[in-house]
Amino acid sequence: MKHVSRLIFALLVFATLTSCQQEEKKTPPNIIFIMSDDHAEKAISAYGHNLLQTPNIDRIANEGILFENSFVTNSICAPSRAVMLTGKYSHLNGLRDNRDQFDGSQLTFPKLLQKAGYQTAMVGKWHLKTTPQGFDYWNILINQGDYYNPRMIDMGDTMTHTGYTTDLITDFALDYLENRDETKPFCMLFHHKAPHRNWMPPPRHFDLFKDKDIPMPDNFYDDYANRSVAAAEQDMHIDDMFLHLDMKLHPNDELPPSGTGGGPPGFTDVNAWANAYGRMNDEQKAAWDAHYDPINQDFLKRKPTGKELSEWKYRRYMEDYLGSVAAVDDNVGRVLDYLEEHGLEENTIVVYTSDQGFYLGEHGWYDKRWMYEESLSMPLVMKFPKEISAGQRNKDIVLNLDFAPTFLDYAGIEIPREMQGASLRQLAKNNMADDWRSSMYYEYFEFPHGWHSVKKHYGVRTDRYKLIHYHTDLDDWELFDLERDPSEMQNLYDHPDYKEVQKELHNELTKLRKELLVEEV
Ligand code: CA
Repeated sequence: MKHVSRLIFALLVFATLTSCQQEEKKTPPNIIFIMSDDHAEKAISAYGHNLLQTPNIDRIANEGILFENSFVTNSICAPSRAVMLTGKYSHLNGLRDNRDQFDGSQLTFPKLLQKAGYQTAMVGKWHLKTTPQGFDYWNILINQGDYYNPRMIDMGDTMTHTGYTTDLITDFALDYLENRDETKPFCMLFHHKAPHRNWMPPPRHFDLFKDKDIPMPDNFYDDYANRSVAAAEQDMHIDDMFLHLDMKLHPNDELPPSGTGGGPPGFTDVNAWANAYGRMNDEQKAAWDAHYDPINQDFLKRKPTGKELSEWKYRRYMEDYLGSVAAVDDNVGRVLDYLEEHGLEENTIVVYTSDQGFYLGEHGWYDKRWMYEESLSMPLVMKFPKEISAGQRNKDIVLNLDFAPTFLDYAGIEIPREMQGASLRQLAKNNMADDWRSSMYYEYFEFPHGWHSVKKHYGVRTDRYKLIHYHTDLDDWELFDLERDPSEMQNLYDHPDYKEVQKELHNELTKLRKELLVEEV
């Protein structure tokens, strides 16, 4: 009797599994992969910070899962995008820094989805220099893109549009959804330029922080003692921001000299600002000037110096950055509303992420690149009502390397062996997965050329510790205990209390470099 009931149970399980698989084949999930550029976790309210409210990104988190330990493998724009498309580290996909161009002939997840019958689309920031491949529809910004009246390439045709770029990209994304072939599942990459430098918000968010305090990080006045000289020798301090492009001051003889802005030789602040401001039409300029002229006149009247100038710059930067984020959040809301209104909510996976994190004054910095927490971290929230329960938070180490395998897994497509990431599907469903990674490997390449003078480095991060090696023009190691020192102010390398930890981290690093084929290229 026992055997019979076991057999019946097994048959029932088999029947259920088979019907699930058939259901999956019949109605594969749609995918909306939303990515912004340089969006720090600290600027998302779901991550527990109060800098601003992001109700729409929070909706995704509340209706699904938020990853607290999501990281990038190389914290810079184009390389991160290449990692996401290929599921492979920079040393294997060939795009190590922003000077490289993407080899579009490689295997990518959109190509595999397209082959399996998905309609694929890429709308917004692409930034990989070569023509997108694997998409039925693409409409992309040129290079970094502009905040106002952007030029975009629509399937090969260059057009200039009138309006605010974050809103326009969303208009095009919604047009695509509205006109798609409803007999097929879709995968849309909906990628924003904002809040990438030079942080130009739309008029509706100019006054978002009027009369509101914007707290400064505790380590804004970091002196970089107790760490590698790499930390002191960067060129990404808020004090050195461009007065025109970043601070939006029009050229004026009474201004002090502009900052270095971390720029490479030949980059001209005045010209870059003239181009950004010059893109606006008369109406847009009038709205802009009505807000910014009084701020600039006040600056010229007071001529702040020293700490007062540092804090003025921090405040100006943060107001513009957060105003640009608020516009991204508005537009995430438009897409979520569309899904709800068109009955697409249940069977659509929505991911919100950024190509990496960003410094909002920590260590006195803006920009990214470092393996330190603020730029290593990438916000990641995901919802899929059919399979992911609402309101989960996960602490496992997940990577931008994991997007490609994840989307393929949801679509029921076999994950190619050459992809180095792992599918997040089980993790998202059960808030745990067997044999999940307990450490991650990181590597940054853009030195000495390019922007911001951040030394080449690689390293390993576990749930508690981090080991970093700076090399090429120096040979320095850093070890941080993130539990005791989450702001990474105290290098513990060669500290007697951490002798064993240091040894283990070195072993882990060697193991990862071998497994990930780092030494072989
Ligand atoms: Ca970026």
